[in-house]
Amino acid sequence: MESDAIVLTESGDLERRTVEVDDPGPDQVLLRVELSGVCGSDVHMWQHGERDSPVVPGHEFVGIVEEIGADVATDSARRPIAEGDVLTVVPGISCGDCWYCENMPTRPLTCNDRDVHGFRSVEEPPHLHGGMSEYFLLEDRAHFYRVPDALETELGALVEPLSVATHAVERAQPPGLPHAREGLGMGHSVVVQGAGPIGLLTVAAATTVGAGQVIAVDMIDERLAMAERFGATDTVDLSEHDGDEFIDAIAERTPSGDGPDVTVEAVGHPSAFEQALEIPHNGGTVVEV
Ligand SMILES: [Zn+2]
Ligand SMILES: [Zn+2]
Repeated sequence: MESDAIVLTESGDLERRTVEVDDPGPDQVLLRVELSGVCGSDVHMWQHGERDSPVVPGHEFVGIVEEIGADVATDSARRPIAEGDVLTVVPGISCGDCWYCENMPTRPLTCNDRDVHGFRSVEEPPHLHGGMSEYFLLEDRAHFYRVPDALETELGALVEPLSVATHAVERAQPPGLPHAREGLGMGHSVVVQGAGPIGLLTVAAATTVGAGQVIAVDMIDERLAMAERFGATDTVDLSEHDGDEFIDAIAERTPSGDGPDVTVEAVGHPSAFEQALEIPHNGGTVVEV
């Protein structure tokens, strides 16, 4: 069997290739990809190259189960899966074997030998390792989840970026007993820098956990309007302010008058991170996505 795939070549070009698909082994699942999102890191890889090229990019995707290996019965939440089910796939795969995997299993980013879908050479098995492909061979050691029937299939491609946003919000919550105004808590004030996909989902996540004020910062009108639809209580348009002047404009809107409790930096530019450090009130929290 063959699959059409988009391949980022060694020279940085995107081309369409036909890739041979192995029959799924006993611990594998063959997915027919429905939709794959384009992440900022895909654009970065396209502009600056990827050391493991040629790769099939795509780590935010959703697919339909075409064939299941004999030893696979459930998804990672231990729910049964069957042909025709819709699955969304976690991009990172920890080795399960290094010191970090043994001792810090809940911190998969620390793994010494981490594998990520959409970044491995198409020349290595299982060849189809990214979502920008007609088919995808899912290995059992990967984490994957069945998308509930009630959810539109294409929304499954947003599960990965949404989990980035919910993780950012969780990182702002202090462990243990909450101390007044430290980190994120009910009614607290949050600034989200950047209203791109991750920023918008962070606005929604902060609103969902009970932030009292969510201020979205961007310079594109459509994004700020979208942020309001996602739950932002305030917006600050960077294009209306010179330099760092917007930081004072934010502070004026917050209950402290001195900045929010939490700032989440979702722009991904070094200058935005420098500004992030100046935005919260004294003793506030900064989360870098
Ligand atoms: Zn991504
Ligand atoms: Zn590991």
